[in-house]
Amino acid sequence: MAVQKFVSEVVKNINITPTVFELYLKPSIPFPFEAGQFLMIDAPNSENPEKPLKRSYSVASPPEADLICLCIKRLAFGRGTPFFKDLKPGDQLKTAGPFGRFTYKTPPSKNVFFIATGTGISPFHSMMFSQGFKKTPPQKIFIAIGARTEDEILYYDKMGTQPNVVWIPCVSQPTERWKGFKGRVTDYIRGLSDLDYLNTEFYLCGNGDMIKEVKMILMDTKGVAKEHIHQEIYY
Ligand SMILES: Cc1cc2nc3c(=O)[nH]c(=O)nc-3n(C[C@H](O)[C@H](O)[C@H](O)COP(=O)(O)OP(=O)(O)OC[C@H]3O[C@@H](n4cnc5c(N)ncnc54)[C@H](O)[C@@H]3O)c2cc1C
Repeated sequence: MAVQKFVSEVVKNINITPTVFELYLKPSIPFPFEAGQFLMIDAPNSENPEKPLKRSYSVASPPEADLICLCIKRLAFGRGTPFFKDLKPGDQLKTAGPFGRFTYKTPPSKNVFFIATGTGISPFHSMMFSQGFKKTPPQKIFIAIGARTEDEILYYDKMGTQPNVVWIPCVSQPTERWKGFKGRVTDYIRGLSDLDYLNTEFYLCGNGDMIKEVKMILMDTKGVAKEHIHQEIYY
């Protein structure tokens, strides 16, 4: 699909965890994209006002939705996200897209394993609720999402409760009340033995170190071929 530049209007901006917010945008033109792709938004650049900052965000909503939903982590020290965090309904943004090749390619005879850190779950949310995925779902859907604390686990209500989903939240610094897996997603994947690895496609998104490590585990110790691992590195 051809990349377009367009203006988007902010419709809603809501906090969904202590540090993550959803930004709902109405594009000024039809915006076709494939689930898993991302767009780029301009943010003001205080150091060089002539040259706006360009920030990439996976679309979290499916292509069929009326509004574009982005799921963004606010970084207190970040240059772009504090600006996006404060956006109000009616604000206008310069946007461009769609970009990227991180799209869903799994045949229905296989399982799919989505592995994310934090907002890296966004493209998987888009994929899971897209018409294409619903028409030809995989055998089983595994979702491992990593967060530092349990209140930062995203989209359990929407994704974790869907039929045929095995939901695996991995929390590295949980409270004493936490009953789920304690550790990082990499620890979980390393210890996982009862999976039909050769009949599963892996999609990894988020932190680059996590992706590198999980890829190494899958390829070196689980026998997964490179072409069955798909990735999108955020930072
Ligand atoms: C293809 C693509 C898709 C992306 N999609 C999303 C998305 O859907 N949601 C989302 O929240 N982000 C996403 N990102 C990251 C996003 O583009 C920005 O990098 C991020 O929002 C930080 O912007 P900033 O200007 O606030 O921070 P900056 O001032 O650019 O960076 C500050 C520092 O924070 C690091 N950093 C960036 N992201 C994170 C993070 N999540 N946690 C901790 N440290 C981080 C950077 O490496 C840098 O060192 C995506 C990145 C890419 C390349």
